[in-house]
Amino acid sequence: MAAPADHPLISVIVPVKDEEEAIAPFVARMTVVLDALRDTDGSSVAWEILFVDDGSSDATLPAIMAANLRDPRIIAVSLSRNFGKEAALSAGLDNVRGATVVPIDVDMQDPPEVIGAMLDQWRQGYEVVYGVRRNRSTDSLPKRLTADLYYRAHNWMSEDKIPEHAGDFRLLDRRVVEVIRAMPERNRFMKGLFAWGGFRQTAVEYDRAERTVGGTKFNYIKLWKLAIDGLTSASTAPLRIWSYIGFGIAALAMVYALFLIARTILYGVDVAGYASMMVAVLFLGGVQLLSLGILGEYVGRILIEAKGRPIYVIRERIGQAGERD
Ligand code: UDP
Ligand code: MG
Repeated sequence: MAAPADHPLISVIVPVKDEEEAIAPFVARMTVVLDALRDTDGSSVAWEILFVDDGSSDATLPAIMAANLRDPRIIAVSLSRNFGKEAALSAGLDNVRGATVVPIDVDMQDPPEVIGAMLDQWRQGYEVVYGVRRNRSTDSLPKRLTADLYYRAHNWMSEDKIPEHAGDFRLLDRRVVEVIRAMPERNRFMKGLFAWGGFRQTAVEYDRAERTVGGTKFNYIKLWKLAIDGLTSASTAPLRIWSYIGFGIAALAMVYALFLIARTILYGVDVAGYASMMVAVLFLGGVQLLSLGILGEYVGRILIEAKGRPIYVIRERIGQAGERD
């Protein structure tokens, strides 16, 4: 049995939350894939699989421990509570040693077999090789539509374009990992961070499978929060737009005022106009509340950043998962 390597070529990061039935099949399939990988000289490559237990309340951790006993290249960090997938990924990046790093979901919707192709691209000199889903037919129609809408909105507003239909499944060069790790922000919308990082990027296409075991851990409320996190961290356009909307409304109000003045001069005072006044008051009130709310989204995030709390807390390490620097 291979001993854990100090400098594996590939570190696979797997965030898991309540995935007890998914661990064993994942390990079985991933191990086969990783063992089959060959170096340029035909030798097998050193690898490690790091699970990040994101506050699971079921038997996920014992399942990982069992896997670690069978193969010490399977290691884990267990977080003190559920910090969310983005934070779990950050914990993963901080605790792997590989020359390349592959974040992947445990549900095998993203086929591990693609890693070989990603490695080939990396050897061609690409530092980021992201997987692009050729079709999203396994996702429900509303999820596809909202995802589509989100990518469009994000890329329209933000300077850092995120590739459409690319999940977190990708291969990252060590240099990219260090750039991401050096980013100080608490709000870790990973796709946005990867996009900001730049480097030479390329895509590998694959078909996305159905989730084999367990259910999705993302409901629409979680996805909505993720979307807002992504937008607010990548773009200040929602803040700036209010200057233009305000200017537009002020200009219209000026025209309307002139019209009212002219009408009063020509036709005298008229007490009617209750309806138009209400419309103006309600409309302006709504616009102001909306802009205040958006301001609040940003101020709230500034508060979170200002507190400077850690992104995650590790409760336990399994195997030789140690903090790297
Ligand atoms: N996950 C996590 N923390 C969470 C939610 C999810 O670590 O708070 C993990 C989950 O165990 C899985 C991956 O993130 O390995 C992706 O979750 P899921 O497959 O439910 O998302 P979907 O594919 O439905 O978008
Ligand atoms: Mg999934």
